Amino acid sequence: MTAETRAPSIETAVIKWHDGVPCSTRFDDIYFSRDDGLEESRHVFIRHNQLAERFARVSAGGSFVIAETGFGTGLNFLAAWQAWEAENPGDDRCLHFVSAERFPLDREDLSQALSLWPELGDYAARLLEHYPPPVHGAHRLVLAGGRIRLTLFFGDVLEAWRELDFHADAWFLDGFAPAKNPGMWEEAAITALRRHSKPGTTLATFTAVGEVRRLLTNAGFNMRKLPGFGRKLEMLAGQLPAEPEVSCTKSPIASRPIAIIGAGVAGSLLARNLAERGCDVTLIDKAPEAGTAASGNYQGALYVKLGVEFNDQAKLGLSSLLFSQRYYAQSGGEYWHPTGLIQLAYNDSEANRQSRFTARNDYPPAVLSAVNASEASRLAGIPLQSGGLWFPHSGWLEPGMLCRSLTNHPRIQRCFGFDVHRLTPCNGKWHVAGTGEQDVVADRVVICAGHLSPKLIPLRNEFRFRTIRGQVSHLPESSLNKPAVVLCGPGYINPAHQGIALAGASFDLHDHSPALSTESHRENLSMLASMVPEALNVKAEPIDPAMLEGKVGFRCTTHDYQPVAGPLSDSAGRILEGIDLFTGLGSKGLSYAPLLAEYLADRISGQPQCLPASLARRVATLRCHRPKTSQSETIGA
Ligand code: SAM
Repeated sequence: MTAETRAPSIETAVIKWHDGVPCSTRFDDIYFSRDDGLEESRHVFIRHNQLAERFARVSAGGSFVIAETGFGTGLNFLAAWQAWEAENPGDDRCLHFVSAERFPLDREDLSQALSLWPELGDYAARLLEHYPPPVHGAHRLVLAGGRIRLTLFFGDVLEAWRELDFHADAWFLDGFAPAKNPGMWEEAAITALRRHSKPGTTLATFTAVGEVRRLLTNAGFNMRKLPGFGRKLEMLAGQLPAEPEVSCTKSPIASRPIAIIGAGVAGSLLARNLAERGCDVTLIDKAPEAGTAASGNYQGALYVKLGVEFNDQAKLGLSSLLFSQRYYAQSGGEYWHPTGLIQLAYNDSEANRQSRFTARNDYPPAVLSAVNASEASRLAGIPLQSGGLWFPHSGWLEPGMLCRSLTNHPRIQRCFGFDVHRLTPCNGKWHVAGTGEQDVVADRVVICAGHLSPKLIPLRNEFRFRTIRGQVSHLPESSLNKPAVVLCGPGYINPAHQGIALAGASFDLHDHSPALSTESHRENLSMLASMVPEALNVKAEPIDPAMLEGKVGFRCTTHDYQPVAGPLSDSAGRILEGIDLFTGLGSKGLSYAPLLAEYLADRISGQPQCLPASLARRVATLRCHRPKTSQSETIGA
């Protein structure tokens, strides 16, 4: 990052074009061969990593991991994707591509560069559809229904390899020429590469520079010089000892059943994610169908609050937001309504916070931009007194319908009407006992039961979870000047749908009643009147809170208002085998859950992880233990 670029934005590449071939002005080098970039990619990277043969050997539920230094135009990625499709592996196998890029191409340059290859047109279109905005950090792209996963780290290669958790089957070493781009080839980068390699990992690179060969040999690779492509006489290929097939054909999750407790947004997303990776899932809920409890609201906004400091909390919020926007655009079907969303500067203190936020940070307009009252009014379609932050790709969802659609998959066995009482480990498996006739027995269990999660955790010591009641109000559209976008502040109001707009939600720490309360409706109406008075139609009959419909849900929040996703550990940090926790999403479940479901499924399936280490620590269970008491801790308490 330079002085001109503030976080989270990252400097993009400055390209000049030579006969259609992109050239970096910063490094004074070309992105691919002038002779034929695609053929070069196939010659150097695909053939000399023996990818066709190795792809064909990946078995059900398995994955193959390619790591690359320098994503550039994505040509190598698309060539690998095409080679994967040519082997036609089953839908339950995944090609996982991990790449680091310090100066991402902007969307227009990427599109122009890839237009050179009409035969890759469909792949390029899909990459462009998902290509992230130029913000620093790890981006996970799920393509071709999950058969292709791309972890694209926008940042320096050393930081990428320090932060990301993966082990490669094959490497594409594709920095610019070592003399022009020494940072990509230095010893620290080669050492990190070795650390991220499986036994038998192969590598290939276009360069044959002696120093590169020496560093790779010192790192343990058996190196060979081979004929290069086009006008390049030589290239290098190498391999670590041990047969590559040992690692890449293994299928870590197929035929190892998993039980998920809770069919809300978190559990439904995780069940679907694992099922698409080839795993058999039993999804358990005490309700008769998915998405009825806290996830069963008629409407839910896709919303995160990004802090003034671009710290780990803001990074997690931003990654979650960007991933969920991509996820719902692809899988949200008719239940996703990308209307855009405004976080209103609804009072002086919030206006002040937003001005500090915009002064301190630089977000690309595709993520968010500050708007004044007249721009906000134009976007919302109703007059507004305050401006705010405009999120053009956000919107709202019908969460209950989304859950029901996600859980309709042949690998998901729905075990509904089953109230879980107890989890017990037995002979390397977990027994889930409850009101069902028989226990559910699984190799692994994930607790996604929202505010009911704490009572299912098979540890005696306490966790710092809190239950917070929230009631939403169903406002008849005739009582509103209907905003066309989601408006948020201390609460929110959604665009009207089928005659109703949902406003909420109350925040009741001390009330645990599941019944609708007139008082909570009143609270929602007064929140609305103070946040966005223009939304209420003064010409209509005044709303009688006693007559309103709505819904009560219970949020599960943590002491630090950050979610929890990962293996369950006791207060000493010892991990309990085969049990994970996925809860504490508070009122941000729709934003956090898609990325965290992806992260948990990555961990469970042994695939590269979408969260960098610093963010994985942020969501770990350990932080949620109550500070030590004299109480002893036992399993099955
Ligand atoms: N593989 C790319 C493709 O298929 O188009 C071409 C890669 S190009 C030869 C080298 C890339 O490495 C450039 O995009 C450059 O910005 C990136 N790069 C250079 N130094 C870097 C560093 N220290 N960390 C991460 N990326 C870097």
